[in-house]
Amino acid sequence: MRFHRDDALIVVDVQRDFCPGGALEIAGGGDIVPIINRLMAEAAASGACIVTSRDWHPKDHASFNARGGVWPEHCIQESNGAKFHEGLRLPPDALVISKGADLHKDQYSAFDGTGLTDELRRRGIRRVIIRGLALDVCVRASALDAARAGFETRVMRRRRGRYRIKTASAQYWK
Ligand SMILES: [Zn+2]
Repeated sequence: MRFHRDDALIVVDVQRDFCPGGALEIAGGGDIVPIINRLMAEAAASGACIVTSRDWHPKDHASFNARGGVWPEHCIQESNGAKFHEGLRLPPDALVISKGADLHKDQYSAFDGTGLTDELRRRGIRRVIIRGLALDVCVRASALDAARAGFETRVMRRRRGRYRIKTASAQYWK
């Protein structure tokens, strides 16, 4: 796809724990890695900003089953499962956003309390393109926050075997 200098590609949570064999695996989670690598190369070639978020939980995080949360333990800070998928070719200047680091609450969105909105505004970003894991949880929350912050927001997803970029508004997720 064509990127512009005032675009940001946001790669959400492509971490080992969300890929096959991980603590909270998503079926086919690893399949998006080559697609994301291609997107990142295209974005880098156009001078677009590349952001990658990661779930980055302390031990005993509020979202874990042991504390009454809905998820098994996953993406614990500095653990293997919290690492980015080994096939992901992140450019060295990618902006890494850690979320979910607050012991007492979950943060599904890459924009929630991370300073990302201000950082993108500071860089003059107008449009964001979001791709990652998981579509209905962290990708969704990130896209809704991006749209609320006033960025033209697009989400890439697969439909009938084809990848499409769609404008993401609250309506889109219904
Ligand atoms: Zn999490």
